[in-house]
Amino acid sequence: MTRNALSGAEVRLDKVTFSYGEAVFGFDVAFRPGRVTAVMGPSGSGKSTLLNLVAGFETAASGRVLIGDRDVTADPPAARPVSMVFQENNLFAHLTVEQNVGLGRSPSLRLSDADRTAVAGALERTGLGGKGKRLPRELSGGERQRVALARVLVRERPVLLLDEPFASLGPALREDMLELVAGLQAERGMTVLFVTHQPEDARRIAHDMAFIEEGRVAATGPVEEFFGEGGPEAFRRYIGAS
Ligand code: ADP
Ligand code: MG
Repeated sequence: MTRNALSGAEVRLDKVTFSYGEAVFGFDVAFRPGRVTAVMGPSGSGKSTLLNLVAGFETAASGRVLIGDRDVTADPPAARPVSMVFQENNLFAHLTVEQNVGLGRSPSLRLSDADRTAVAGALERTGLGGKGKRLPRELSGGERQRVALARVLVRERPVLLLDEPFASLGPALREDMLELVAGLQAERGMTVLFVTHQPEDARRIAHDMAFIEEGRVAATGPVEEFFGEGGPEAFRRYIGAS
């Protein structure tokens, strides 16, 4: 598993428009390759919609979505070089941990030796080494989120989208998961978009920030600048109020 195969690609939304009826979005933004960008903003501002447009769960009405030099605007989710982890981790209750992770390699669970090696490696890396034969209900909430993370790791995609994946975890488990994500990102160099409501989570693992307001990216910049004295006014108001 080389760093090259996984190194992050730039994620760019080039004049993308989209709407859900009255909710209208316009995204024109680039996320730097090989970095973690924390995506913050009020509930309903469009953070999930932004990630869904990158992942392909929604399709831009106009404009282009680019990953590296690939135009993926019309590609279905499975064809995009992207993996996503959600707040609800969507594990299959009747499949073991190992099988849930294996789905990341092969939807039919016909696994090659290389697939099995990748699954074992991801379980090890996420601290689930001894738990491959368990069912999801035999795990804690934190462990289930680790399974979801292991499942995306075996996909070895250059872009990782995290939509509030740790929101339902307590502080200690959240800290564990942040450390895991930061470590994996440092090793593999993927481009990560990380939606969070917690300023301290952003400061802990993000390099860059994107602040979303009313369906558009209101500000972007390095974390230090955002949280510093000269940070964007709207962002300061938002974290001051939350
Ligand atoms: P966030 O993740 O920042 O909380 P979302 O991207 O989920 O915000 O939602 C942005 C807006 O789009 C909200 O007004 C929400 O109600 C609306 N919306 C999101 N998903 C759908 C959907 N599947 N159908 C209709 N409206 C939606
Ligand atoms: Mg959301």
